[in-house]
Amino acid sequence: MQNDIPQDYMVIGTAAEGMVRAFAARTTNLVDEARRRHGTYPTATAALGRVLTAGGLLSANLKGDDLLTLRFMGNGPLGAIICSVDTRGYLRGYVQNPEVHLPGRGNKLDVGGAVGKNGFIYVSRDIGLKEPYTGSYPLVSGEIGEDLAAYFAKSEQIPTAVSLGVLVEPDGSVQAAGGFFIQVMPGADVEITARLEGILDSVLPVSNMIAAGRVPEEILNDLFGTMHFNQLETRPLAFRCRCSKELLESILISLGADELSDMIEKQGSAEVKCHFCAETYQFDKSELEKLLAEAKNVSGE
Ligand code: ZN
Repeated sequence: MQNDIPQDYMVIGTAAEGMVRAFAARTTNLVDEARRRHGTYPTATAALGRVLTAGGLLSANLKGDDLLTLRFMGNGPLGAIICSVDTRGYLRGYVQNPEVHLPGRGNKLDVGGAVGKNGFIYVSRDIGLKEPYTGSYPLVSGEIGEDLAAYFAKSEQIPTAVSLGVLVEPDGSVQAAGGFFIQVMPGADVEITARLEGILDSVLPVSNMIAAGRVPEEILNDLFGTMHFNQLETRPLAFRCRCSKELLESILISLGADELSDMIEKQGSAEVKCHFCAETYQFDKSELEKLLAEAKNVSGE
């Protein structure tokens, strides 16, 4: 980690004597890393950045070896946006069409138009069972935050205020990114909900607060004021993929001997790119021949 760039992290806590749960994150570095790796244009950067930030916040509820995958499948030009996160706060993600830029009104980027209104959000939790548990809900605006709030309310029955934001510099780099979730616990009285709604109506966009140098715990302290934010935990967040040369070797072996022989004959080498992090792995002829031998072994030839 470079000294001049503070690390991304999230804070987890409660307010209003435990009747409200709150999560806030600063994700500027990991969103900028995703932008650099995938070469996203500004609107794609904002959309992918919001999804990665949401994934980071959602990881607060993971345990052990759990994995969470968040997918936005809209009908806009970006195509699918996918992010996966584990309990260590290691995030990875990509957007199907990274070279999309839709300027909106003023200096706002038209994320909703780029994602598309027609489609679904899918939240999958792989907790080590045979099949991951997946919840889904139709998109409401393609703005990511509103779509997630609707998903929480309708699919998980948890009323949640969602704020996600990414500020993109004129040169395309990420100036600030972050977000927060605020969830009202079942049984909280209506006065708490009403006070929260009042606060949330007047709050600044979260990316502006991050750009102004506010850290996640300050954002929640400021926001809750006399409802007293009680910080329970902080967790680091970072862009980190799970791919490796060994993993891609096993994928190549699984293609089978015929396909590998074909590859050796026609191309002589192979370059395999990881979707999630855009890392490329080179396999020269002798490596491919070794994998071919293993593939033949596997199939008993
Ligand atoms: Zn990767």
